Amino acid sequence: MACKYVFVTGGVVSSLGKGVAAASIGALLESRGLRISMLKFDPYLNVDPGTMSPFQHGEVFVTDDGAETDLDLGHYERFTHARLTRDNNVTAGRIYETILAKERRGDYLGKTVQVIPHVTGEIKAAVRRVSEGVDVAIIEIGGTVGDIESLPFLEAIRQVRQEEGRENVVFVHLTLVPYIAAAGELKTKPTQHSVKDLREIGIQADILLCRTDRFLPREMREKIALFCNVAEEAVVAATDAASIYEVPALLGAQGLDDLLLRYLHLEAPPPAMDGWEALVRRMRNPQGRVAIAVVGKYVEYEDSYKSLKEALLHGALAGNWELDVHWIEAQELEAGAQEVERRLGGVDGILVPGGFGKRGIGGMLLAIEYARTRRVPFFGICLGMQCSVIEFARHVAGLPEANSSEFDPATPDRVIYKLRELRGVEEMGGTMRLGAWPCRLELHSRAYAAYGQPEISERHRHRYEYNRDYEARLVNAGLRITGSSPDGQYVEIVEIEDHPWFLGCQFHPEFQSRPLEPHPLFREFTAAAHAYQQTRARASEPEEIFHRSARRA
Ligand code: GLN
Repeated sequence: MACKYVFVTGGVVSSLGKGVAAASIGALLESRGLRISMLKFDPYLNVDPGTMSPFQHGEVFVTDDGAETDLDLGHYERFTHARLTRDNNVTAGRIYETILAKERRGDYLGKTVQVIPHVTGEIKAAVRRVSEGVDVAIIEIGGTVGDIESLPFLEAIRQVRQEEGRENVVFVHLTLVPYIAAAGELKTKPTQHSVKDLREIGIQADILLCRTDRFLPREMREKIALFCNVAEEAVVAATDAASIYEVPALLGAQGLDDLLLRYLHLEAPPPAMDGWEALVRRMRNPQGRVAIAVVGKYVEYEDSYKSLKEALLHGALAGNWELDVHWIEAQELEAGAQEVERRLGGVDGILVPGGFGKRGIGGMLLAIEYARTRRVPFFGICLGMQCSVIEFARHVAGLPEANSSEFDPATPDRVIYKLRELRGVEEMGGTMRLGAWPCRLELHSRAYAAYGQPEISERHRHRYEYNRDYEARLVNAGLRITGSSPDGQYVEIVEIEDHPWFLGCQFHPEFQSRPLEPHPLFREFTAAAHAYQQTRARASEPEEIFHRSARRA
C-alpha cells in the first residue's frame, strides 16, 4: 500500500504546540495499529540546530545516527515508536546546501536554478524519503503560515497533494481561538484569517485543531466550520491540558483518529489507548512527591533542558510521585556555603546536567560536593559526570588542581580531556562524539541493577572524556567505573559505591526516555530520591514528638 500523508501547519502565533499536536497524531495512529514516520521541516537557514545557542533554539535533540535536531523530534520519539534519523529533520539550510552543491557540480546542466521547481523538488524528495515502509507519514512545517521562509515548504506540500491525490493527503492546521477578557468572548477571526492565508497559497485545510484555554462551544465550532470551509466534526478543540501527555487522549476523545482514517481512506482496528489513559490517571492521582534540584547553566530558559525535564517526570511517574523540580542556576551557588545549604537543603535528589563552557562550573562542583558528603542521591549527566570526576579527584583522590582541559587547558591534572583529538580522530562536522554508542556494564553496579542487561546503547554529544591515566588513583579512592565502551577506550559511567545513589554518565540518557517506558536511570534516581526523603522524614520524627510533648508540658 502506498504511504499516506498528514501535513501539520500552524497559524496565528508560534508556540501553540505544533510539535506535540503532530506527535499526538502519531500516537493516535499508532494506537490504531498503523506504522508511521514523522518529519519536521524547519524553514530557517541554519543547516541544523547544532550550532545554535540553547537560548535561541532550546535543546538540541540527538538521534541514534548522531544528527543534531530540533527538539520537536524529542516529542516524536516520546509519543511514538517512529525511528528517527537525520532524514527526519530538514531545514531550509539543508535544502539549499544540497541544491548549491548540485549546482556547483553542474548537475542542473546549465539550467537556471529556481525556488520552483528546484527548491520545492528537494523538499518533496525529503517528504518521500520518510514515506518508505510506513502507512502514514506525519509532516510538520515549522513556523507559521504567512512567514516568508515557510512559503517554499507550503508550495511543496500543495504539490504533494496534487501528485498523490486527495484521498492520500490530509492538511491539519493548528490555530488559536483566543479569549478576549474585555469582551468576555472567544474570537474566531484570527483562525479565519489564518485559514484564508493558507487558501491563498492553494491549500484548503481539512482539519482544524483549535487551541483554546477553555471549552469551545458548539456554536463556535459551527461558525469556524462555516467560515473556514471545513466539516463541523473537523473543528477539533485542542484545549489547554494539565500535561502534554493528556493530548493524545484528548484529541482521540473527539474522534480525530477516526476522522483522519476516513479522510485518508484507511481501514484500521479500534484504538488501543489503554497505556496513555492509565498514564493520565496516574498523573492525576500521585502518591507523594519528590523534589529534585537541577543545577545547570541555562535553567532560566526551560526549553534548553526539554528532554531532561520530561525524563525526570517519567522517572517520577514510574513511582507514582508528583515531580517538583528546583531549577538552580549553578553560578548562584557560588555565593557561598550558606547559599548552597539554602538552595539544596530541602531537596531529595541533585542532578547536574549537560552543558558547555566554564561559566557555572564552580557552582556545579559545590552541588556535587554537597550531594557526595551529605549523601543526597546524585545523578550527573555528561558535563555533570565530568564535574563529578573533577570534584572527586580534588577532594577525595588528593589532586587539588584536577580539572577538565575544557575549563583550564594548563591544568597539571587533566582528569577530563579531549581523548579523540589526541588520537587524531577526524570527523565530519567537528570533533564531537555524537549519536548512539554501545556501552558495557559491570555486573555488580547500580547501572546494571537499573538496566538489567549487560550491554546498552546510549546517545552522546560531547568533546571531552574521562582520562584513564587517572583511573587507578580515582578507583582506589572509591570512584568506580561501571560502564565503558566495549573496546575499553571510553569511560561511560562512574559510581561511588559507598553512597545511597551516586552515578555519573557520559551519555545523555534523557533522549531515550518515554512516558510509557521510563528510562531505567531516571526511574532508579527518582526512586533513590524518594527513599532518601523517607529516611530523612523518619530521622526527624523523634525530634518532632519531643517538640510536641514539650509544647504540651
Ligand atoms: N562540555 C562537555 C564536553 O564537550 C560536556 C558536553 C555536554 O554536557 N553535552 O565534553
